[in-house]
Amino acid sequence: MNGYFFEHEDGFSAPRLFSQGVSYTYDDVIVLPGYIDFPADAVDLSTRLSRRVPLSIPCVASPMDTVSESVMAAAMAALGGAAVVHSNASPSRQAAAVRAAKSRRLPFVSQTPFFAPCDAIPDFGDAAAYALVTESGTSTSKLVGVVAVSDWEGVSDKKGTPVSEYMRPAPPSSASASFDFEQAAAFLADEGLDCAPLVAEDGEILDLITAKDIETIRSYPKLGKPSLGSDGKFVVGAAIGTREEDKERLEQLVKAGANAVVVDSSQGNSIYQLDMIKYAKGRYSDLDVIGGNVVTIAQAQNLVKAGVDGLRVGMGSGSICTTQEVCAVGRGQATAVYKVASFARDHDVPVIADGGISNSGHIVKALVLGASTVMMGSFLAGSHEAPGVYEYKDGRRVKKYRGMGSLEAMTKGSDARYLGDALKLKVAQGVVGAVADKGSVLKFIPYTMQAVKQGFQDLGASSVRSAHDLLRSEVLRLEVRTGAAQVEGAVHGLVSYEKKAF
Ligand code: 5GP
Repeated sequence: MNGYFFEHEDGFSAPRLFSQGVSYTYDDVIVLPGYIDFPADAVDLSTRLSRRVPLSIPCVASPMDTVSESVMAAAMAALGGAAVVHSNASPSRQAAAVRAAKSRRLPFVSQTPFFAPCDAIPDFGDAAAYALVTESGTSTSKLVGVVAVSDWEGVSDKKGTPVSEYMRPAPPSSASASFDFEQAAAFLADEGLDCAPLVAEDGEILDLITAKDIETIRSYPKLGKPSLGSDGKFVVGAAIGTREEDKERLEQLVKAGANAVVVDSSQGNSIYQLDMIKYAKGRYSDLDVIGGNVVTIAQAQNLVKAGVDGLRVGMGSGSICTTQEVCAVGRGQATAVYKVASFARDHDVPVIADGGISNSGHIVKALVLGASTVMMGSFLAGSHEAPGVYEYKDGRRVKKYRGMGSLEAMTKGSDARYLGDALKLKVAQGVVGAVADKGSVLKFIPYTMQAVKQGFQDLGASSVRSAHDLLRSEVLRLEVRTGAAQVEGAVHGLVSYEKKAF
């Protein structure tokens, strides 16, 4: 007898649960425990972003301008996940972000600015701790010095003093862009350096790595297997729209080495998206094209027919999203993921469960309902790796997080996702908000993955594939939680408590 055998029917199978005409969110459903015959550490969370892009963890950062740029892309790939670089920027800036993340094997991008020796630095900015000084002030000329914030702070006339007067001499040797974290750490230690430029094969200076970066990353959980594409470089995705000019953007992104593109529409079942998918697949046969967003089988069917390699699922489930309120269209995310994934599986198309993830339990639910990965915005937007600087709100350290359909983001160009170009009057489908400081993704994502592994162990799934098999064979049992059951399932009845996850 194996552990899955049961004589008495208990709980509901997914087909039965999701065929009652009710739209369920992740919080509405609960997964019944299964049989454990393996340790949590044996759970294998490796998966696929799209047909030909493997990942070692099922986490994807959203293409949003407060979430995914080069820093997030490098960190997520180093962790084994991926980020999709947003398209609310010029094609050349977006392509540069993809290139920056793919040009290294380190989990960080420090975005160190460049100056020429005659330049003055009136404001050092919040993002960088160092500046690099090269002969012509560009990344392709010879390095002549380095300036630390502490050097700059001591200068009384910042506007009138050229950096050559207070810069430190350039480090005597440089680190190769092909170094991974351990190699970079060993290099700085062996050479006895506090910092060194990270230099590409063609001599371009990509960044500055410091002993402090190494020390900080050493204090985080050990990095697992990074996501590497067939090009041997970090996996990086990028978003495109469905307009004619997005074909030029696509070309730049392909040249920059994007491993997959996401055609970014809030309602993906449109002639515009189908045309773009066919164009991209026809022109770049090696590129994986992810379509969406969809929440129904009929929508997914059209995109699969057009040739997509992945489906992004979710409409109205995002934390910053007002689509369901404004347009009355969408679907509860648990139902949407289950329905689309049950169709997509027959066509070998991985599903990205996009939006509505606010804890590790939601990730477990998304995966066991058939998703191959989860895409997250708010969960990552408070991290060090998200674009923007921290500010203080009511005594809390926060970072701005905004919907790409908010008026503020659309004013900068993201209106195409919401078909705003066809409508002369812009109507928001998202809000601008703030999320709490969460520290580095390099720290909290490994803890989150450990929690997901524990969830998988409880339900008896030793891998993402085995979770999908349990779902399909109807061994996986689920139930809907009443409002009271949801209250009971959370911390309750205490006067006060501190919630510390790790
Ligand atoms: P979150 O992880 O914050 O719950 O949701 C992120 C997801 O929300 C994104 O990946 C994207 O699909 C969706 N999204 C981003 N901005 C907006 C917006 O302004 N309006 C709507 N309707 N959805 C958005």
